[in-house]
Amino acid sequence: MKQNPFNQEELMLFFEQLWKKSLNPFWVCKPIADDFEMIIANPAAQALDKRQTPGTKFSELIAHSGYSHGILSGYYQCLATKEPVEFEQTVKHNGKEFVFRTFLVPILDDNDKVTHIWGTSHNLTDFLDPQRELLALNELLDAKVRERTEQLNHAMEKLEKLSITDELTQLANRRYFDKALKKEIARAKRSARPLALIYFDIDYFKTFNDTYGHSAGDRCLKQVAKVLAAHAKRSADVVARYGGEEFVMLLPDLHKEQALEVAELVRRDIAKLKLHNENAPAGQVTMSAGIAVVQDNFTADDLLKLADDALYKSKADGRNRSLVAD
Ligand code: GH3
Ligand code: MG
Ligand code: MG
Repeated sequence: MKQNPFNQEELMLFFEQLWKKSLNPFWVCKPIADDFEMIIANPAAQALDKRQTPGTKFSELIAHSGYSHGILSGYYQCLATKEPVEFEQTVKHNGKEFVFRTFLVPILDDNDKVTHIWGTSHNLTDFLDPQRELLALNELLDAKVRERTEQLNHAMEKLEKLSITDELTQLANRRYFDKALKKEIARAKRSARPLALIYFDIDYFKTFNDTYGHSAGDRCLKQVAKVLAAHAKRSADVVARYGGEEFVMLLPDLHKEQALEVAELVRRDIAKLKLHNENAPAGQVTMSAGIAVVQDNFTADDLLKLADDALYKSKADGRNRSLVAD
C-alpha cells in the first residue's frame, strides 16, 4: 500500500495555515431541518460577512443580506446527489456587487450520510470587471460600426440614384433606361404581352436655344420632363431622358392605339405650356413622337430602331405629330 507522505500532525498544520491565511472564504456547515447551520467559517469568510459565526442559520444570512435567492438550492443539490457542486453566486456588499464561484463538497459518514458540507468560494469580481469594461467597449464599437455602415449604405444609395438619374431633369437617364428596356423585353416575351416605346424629340430646339439662350433651353427641358413624368402613371412605366432634347417612354402592356393616345396626351400638355419658340414654324415649343409596339420575337435594338424610324418619319412629315411604326 502506498504510504501517505504526510503524517496526521503535518496535515493539520498545513490545513490550519490554509484556513487562516487563505484569501478565499472557507466554511463548514451542516444540514438541519429545512435549513443549514454554520459550523465554522475562516477569517476570509468572516471578513466578507462577519455574521458567519458558528450556529448562524443560512436562511437568516440570506434574509438580511445581498445573497441571491436560490443559493440554497446548491446546498440541497449537494445533499441529494452526495456529489460536489459548483455554481456562481452574486453578493451585494457595501453597495458593490461581487461574483463568487462557490464549490460545495459533501462530507459523508460511514453510513454514506451527508453530515456536513464543506464550502469554499473564489472571488471572480476582479476578473469580471475588466471583462465588463471590454464588453461595454465592444458595444460602443458595434454601435460605431452600425452607424458607419448606415452612413455608407446611405451614401451608396445616393450614388446609385445619382448614377441612374439625369441631373438636369431628374428623370431616369439612358443608363437606367437601357437596363429597364432589357428587363421589360424579357418580361414581355415571358408573358406574351405587347411592349410599347415612344421616342420623343423637341422640334426646333436648336432654334429655341439660339433665340432664348442655353439657360432658357435648360428650363424648357425641365418643364417638358415634368409633363412626361406625369404621364408615366403605372409603376412599370419608365420615362427617361435619352440624351439632349430626346426622351423615351417605355409602356409595358400597351397596344398601338393606347400608346398613340399617351403620346398625343403628352403633346397636348406640352402645347398647353405655351412655351414660345418664336422662330419655329409653330411659334411655340412642340414635340414629335415615334411609336413602336412589339410582341413576339424582338430585341431592344429592334424596338429602338422601329421607334426611331417612326420619329424620323414624323419629323419628315412636318414635325409636331405622333406616328406609329407599322
Ligand atoms: P429637330 O426639329 O429636327 O429636332 O431640330 P432640333 O433643333 O431640335 O435638333 P438638333 O439636333 O439640330 O438640335 C438639338 C439641340 O438641342 C442642339 C443642342 O444644343 C440642344 N441641346 C441638347 N442638350 C441640351 C441641354 O442639355 N440644354 C440645352 N439648353 N440645350 C441642349
Ligand atoms: Mg434630336
Ligand atoms: Mg429636336
